[in-house]
Amino acid sequence: MSHCFYCGERMQRTNRRGKHSKLERTDDHVIPTSRGGLRGPLSGNIVHCHRKCNEDKGDKTLEEYRAIVAERKGIPVEEFRFPGELREGRPDGRNHPHFVG
Ligand SMILES: [Zn+2]
Repeated sequence: MSHCFYCGERMQRTNRRGKHSKLERTDDHVIPTSRGGLRGPLSGNIVHCHRKCNEDKGDKTLEEYRAIVAERKGIPVEEFRFPGELREGRPDGRNHPHFVG
């Protein structure tokens, strides 16, 4: 999967040499770990997104971020879905035994 969960655009490969692009792929915790979200690839709480989108989401939950992006786009929040949700379904941030992404 090489498209950003939040904006749907293509991502660049992770640069491990420390030169971080805003378009680089990062792991985002759907429920921020600072707010009790689970860690790790089995958590059901990880999606892949651009560094810039990850920074934009910050420590907001999926629903908090949805409200912000929907308003920016002028779409009623109940009608707005992130591109990743349309592709993969809505991550629930709970522990369940399958990989997300
Ligand atoms: Zn993005």
